[in-house]
Amino acid sequence: MWTDTLKSNFDHKIRRGQIILKYCPFCGNNNFNIEFSVTLGVWHCWICHSAGTVNKFLLLNNLPIDKDRWKFTHKHIKTQESGLVLDGFDYINYNDYKKFFTSKGIEKEDIERYRFMYSNIGKYKNKLVVPLYEGNKLVYFIARDLTAKGRYYNIERSKIGILPYYLGEKNRYWLYLCEGIFDAISINKLGYSSGILLGTHISKEQILKIKNFGFKKVVINLDGDAKKKAFVLVEKILKFSLPSVLILYEDKEEPNSIYVKDKEMLKRMLEYPKQSNLVDKVKVMMRV
Ligand SMILES: [Zn+2]
Repeated sequence: MWTDTLKSNFDHKIRRGQIILKYCPFCGNNNFNIEFSVTLGVWHCWICHSAGTVNKFLLLNNLPIDKDRWKFTHKHIKTQESGLVLDGFDYINYNDYKKFFTSKGIEKEDIERYRFMYSNIGKYKNKLVVPLYEGNKLVYFIARDLTAKGRYYNIERSKIGILPYYLGEKNRYWLYLCEGIFDAISINKLGYSSGILLGTHISKEQILKIKNFGFKKVVINLDGDAKKKAFVLVEKILKFSLPSVLILYEDKEEPNSIYVKDKEMLKRMLEYPKQSNLVDKVKVMMRV
């Protein structure tokens, strides 16, 4: 039940049967002003007037959503903090898209773990929706067709200043940067922290964020067809005094495709990234 999730994760008290949290994550008020209606499953802060459904609150705070309540959530409420709309989305049934998920190395428990969702209506109708977080702050979501050759749909929001990531327990201070969501999930499923560039570029803001998050080393994992860009990234990151190495993937390969074929092989590649040398670089740069 969502009420138990709230009670066990937040400082709270019960007033007239409603749950009141001490701290409002939207305005920072720390004096029991954010109230949750137990019957309606919605919240309201009496100070900043942030409001929404319980599931939106749970999603924003990176907590498990309440599936039973999902259908009752209000549609299209914009969140105060990030301006992202998540409430219109539904829970996705793994078995309906088993073939697609299997082709990406996604298992049933990953649906919950990575918060996969589905849209029945609107712009993202029949698409997979994946919310992306920096820590527990929602910063972006991606939408994608649920077919092997499907495409991605960008939301109307700049990606330059965000760096969503998944935390892993291995090589604690290393961040494995990759292009896409499935690469990041594959790497994270093997236990490593992975950051999602949503492309092949990195901005100054993103590099500074990586340092701020506390990572001490970056391992670049661009797709095999972007080797030159991988070298460019390494050099750009090194300029900010952040140690950076890369893993060279074969043409047409990427972390996700290797994960699907041979997890152990990807694990070995990630565990011991080779320091790329000048010879590697010249080979890549000279290729026509
Ligand atoms: Zn507030």
